[in-house]
Amino acid sequence: MKRRKFIQNASLSTFGIAVGSSVFASEKKLSSIISEEIKSENSTASFPLVIATWNVNNSTAEAWRVLQEGKSALDAVEKGCMIEEANAEGQSVGIGGLPDRDGNVTLDACIMDSKGNYGAVVYLQNIMHPISVARKVMEDTPHVILAGKGAEQFAISEGFKPVDLLTDASKKAWEEWKKTSQYKPIINIENHDTIGMLAIDKNGDISGGCTTSGLAYKMAGRVGDSPIIGSGLFIDNEIGGATATGLGEEVLKTVGSFLIVELMRQGKTPQQACEEAIGRIIKKSPNFKDFQVGYIAVNKKGETGYYSIHDGFWVTKYQDGKNENIPSDFYDKK
Ligand code: ASP
Repeated sequence: MKRRKFIQNASLSTFGIAVGSSVFASEKKLSSIISEEIKSENSTASFPLVIATWNVNNSTAEAWRVLQEGKSALDAVEKGCMIEEANAEGQSVGIGGLPDRDGNVTLDACIMDSKGNYGAVVYLQNIMHPISVARKVMEDTPHVILAGKGAEQFAISEGFKPVDLLTDASKKAWEEWKKTSQYKPIINIENHDTIGMLAIDKNGDISGGCTTSGLAYKMAGRVGDSPIIGSGLFIDNEIGGATATGLGEEVLKTVGSFLIVELMRQGKTPQQACEEAIGRIIKKSPNFKDFQVGYIAVNKKGETGYYSIHDGFWVTKYQDGKNENIPSDFYDKK
């Protein structure tokens, strides 16, 4: 489907160079014209809304509940992500996450609000809710990222209780893996991976969150795309937001979420922007058959898009009072 078209599509740089060489004032004017154009298109889209990667109905339901109370998109994504973080059965987020190859569960998360503020934690251990620690980093420190021991110390100083994140099930899976110790990305881990969540509140303001235990059995110290601004998540309240799941190294190399938001700024729909961002990975990585990446996006008026490299990627969307699991379209039709 349209694969040639999106692979060959005009790149961001063609437009970016033109804008970049003009004065800042006209760049600002241009982006508000584009944003007005996006708003004036006909569409059935509406907000509030919540959309998340994978089948996470409980998370989207919680975020929706928060939005219905009239709270902000920021509160919604934090509370929504916390549901999966606390779910010990999910082996890719929070407690119960599969460990690195040394048996340590290390968590990455970030959050971004409608004012362009961002906070993240990377390589965080022993704390159940990295998304909330990321929010604290954003709101209560002069920094945007805290890593490892420092992040853990900060969390504890803020009242987070240390917990053992390695559950019996994940320990058993790791012990099984150690028999061969083969490291290779698995296309869709148990149909449930990183939670990337985007929400628009009743005021039309957008926020996003992203939380993960990263790749199972990764090298010690490895950090993926999920906590990195522009890669695992990006929000520009004037335009929209995007978030990612899948092989973080590929998302990082193409700065996927930022790319999607910039493509929407140029006038693409969220769907077209997600397709082009996947196309960018396919063009650059001849081994795309071996890994999965999935993106979701929203624009300012509540239109959504989602696309992945392979079959098997799902999204959960709560909009107009309906909490739905939706299979994503994908590139590799074989
Ligand atoms: N994107 C995550 C990472 O690379 C993992 C995933 O979504 O499967 O850490």
